[in-house]
Amino acid sequence: MIETDVLILGTGIAGGIAALKVAQAGHRVVMLHRGTDPEQKNTRWAQGGIIYTGPGDSPELLTQDIITAGAGLTFPAAARLLAEEGPRLVREILIDQLQVPFTRGADGEFDITEEAAHSVPRILHQNDTTGLAVNTALMAAVQAEPNITILSPCTAIDLLTLSHHSREPLDVYAPNTCVGAHVLLRQDGKVETVLARETVLATGGLGDLYLHTTNPRGTRGDGIAMAYRAGARLLNMEYVQFHPTAFYHPLARRFLLSESMRGEGARLTLRNGEEFMQRYHPLGSLAPRDIVARAIHQELLAGGEPFVLLDLTHKDGAWIRSRFPFIYTECLKYGVDITREPIPVVPAAHYSCGGVATDLDGRSTIERLWAIGEVACTGLHGANRLASTSLLEGLVFGHRAALAIVEALKSRAYPPFPRIDPWVYQVEESDPALILQDWMTVKYTMWNYVGLVRTRKRLQRARQLLRELQDEVEIFYARATLDDGLIGLRNGMQAALAVLYAAMQNHTSRGCHYLDESEKFSPGFSIMDNPAAPPLGQGF
Ligand SMILES: Cc1cc2nc3c(=O)[nH]c(=O)nc-3n(C[C@H](O)[C@H](O)[C@H](O)COP(=O)(O)OP(=O)(O)OC[C@H]3O[C@@H](n4cnc5c(N)ncnc54)[C@H](O)[C@@H]3O)c2cc1C
Repeated sequence: MIETDVLILGTGIAGGIAALKVAQAGHRVVMLHRGTDPEQKNTRWAQGGIIYTGPGDSPELLTQDIITAGAGLTFPAAARLLAEEGPRLVREILIDQLQVPFTRGADGEFDITEEAAHSVPRILHQNDTTGLAVNTALMAAVQAEPNITILSPCTAIDLLTLSHHSREPLDVYAPNTCVGAHVLLRQDGKVETVLARETVLATGGLGDLYLHTTNPRGTRGDGIAMAYRAGARLLNMEYVQFHPTAFYHPLARRFLLSESMRGEGARLTLRNGEEFMQRYHPLGSLAPRDIVARAIHQELLAGGEPFVLLDLTHKDGAWIRSRFPFIYTECLKYGVDITREPIPVVPAAHYSCGGVATDLDGRSTIERLWAIGEVACTGLHGANRLASTSLLEGLVFGHRAALAIVEALKSRAYPPFPRIDPWVYQVEESDPALILQDWMTVKYTMWNYVGLVRTRKRLQRARQLLRELQDEVEIFYARATLDDGLIGLRNGMQAALAVLYAAMQNHTSRGCHYLDESEKFSPGFSIMDNPAAPPLGQGF
């Protein structure tokens, strides 16, 4: 049993910033790191950059751009807050404190670039590996902080709530209170109980639920699933953003071709060279990403082609190599020289605009449970996310949650930690073939039926398939020896169903939820309360 002031699940930008701030205020922090495999966090793979500020920019203009991208569903206070606090925190934390080596021009000034749907150039980047630069600097600072203990490799299994996990009388706690998590220490297979005064979900997104995704392996909605089982409210889960341009090659895992390529002049064409985007939007290749993604999807369906092309060959080769070194090298590994030939691309699941519903300090609807970064939904992105807002979101809301948690630790009277029932180990062998096959079902079902274009028939078919599979997975989970793969499959099923149910509730096409046969008069959003929560007070 481990006891701490704050438990943080996840080591991406949101978890890292929150951990640093809480620890620097003198509190003990335990952080969970899923593995040494850097593939497992989105932060590491962010390419284009992070919003900062540029000539002619202002908080009002940025707020307006976020709201416009959000297709009428953005919570304006969240957008305003990001626009007002974000650039200052980039300067104070990323540039001054962590000294992230953002790219500078020959004049020594930051190289500020433009991206699709931004009114002015305002993006700070480290060539096309911004996330790697941020992650390296942040993790170095986290590892050097004496108040932070990192458990690694370690996978959270479930959040601990009194109503689910303790026989303690409830009179000293608010009814639905989170007191930490059960976690799997993967080296020896032991399940540890981590008790915390405050618990923070920073577990990232869910792109890996889909057949094609820009996300690394393991972005399977663990935090969404854990929060849902604990009884938290989820919001806007149907709004999964698809990135229009992921590299297509039969042997390569889809990786993202940054939106800044189109910002820098890359054109989308069919294989016959036709530039088709003007048929869909006056901004052509610079149209908002959901419109571009659906346009490509339509063209692929209409033409029966496996991919379209992204063409940057009219630009100077040396410039391309220095501006997009990662993309250049990765494509070349598969025989595509982007300085000489157009790149085959397909759309791919990219970002979850919805998540665990929180206020603007990251408080969820469960006492003492916070959610920040991609796993959370403050309403910032509405029905669609503006490019390069999510690293900033992790920074701003990670920072705000940390301040609020430090305040809570000062002002709250915490009762002693409750007694938690010991973990019951199962002994049946896990079966990798079952896990693999079940994942294929989830990914194909989500891609074809709950993907870029949804219809009622497709959603109903998905419900049939996924519900049946979930029953099987739960039985399997209840009997088999626990490992990261099994935990992930159970969570992936739950998260997929959360997206599906939200899509079924929302009868209006908007932003990145596109429903054929959409209805004009419906709320246009989804709120999922907690039917999963057991009656209060019943421990088991
Ligand atoms: C290819 C790509 C390019 C992108 N480019 C940009 C960009 O240019 N600009 C921008 O702003 N955004 C970009 N994004 C989005 C952005 O990177 C993410 O939204 C953001 O980094 C999310 O940060 P996070 O801290 O919320 O989550 P993550 O960075 O994904 O971190 C989640 C953490 O939680 C851990 N975790 C998950 N489940 C468990 C569990 N059960 N137990 C323990 N730990 C767990 C993970 O291992 C990881 O450490 C990009 C995303 C991708 C995939």
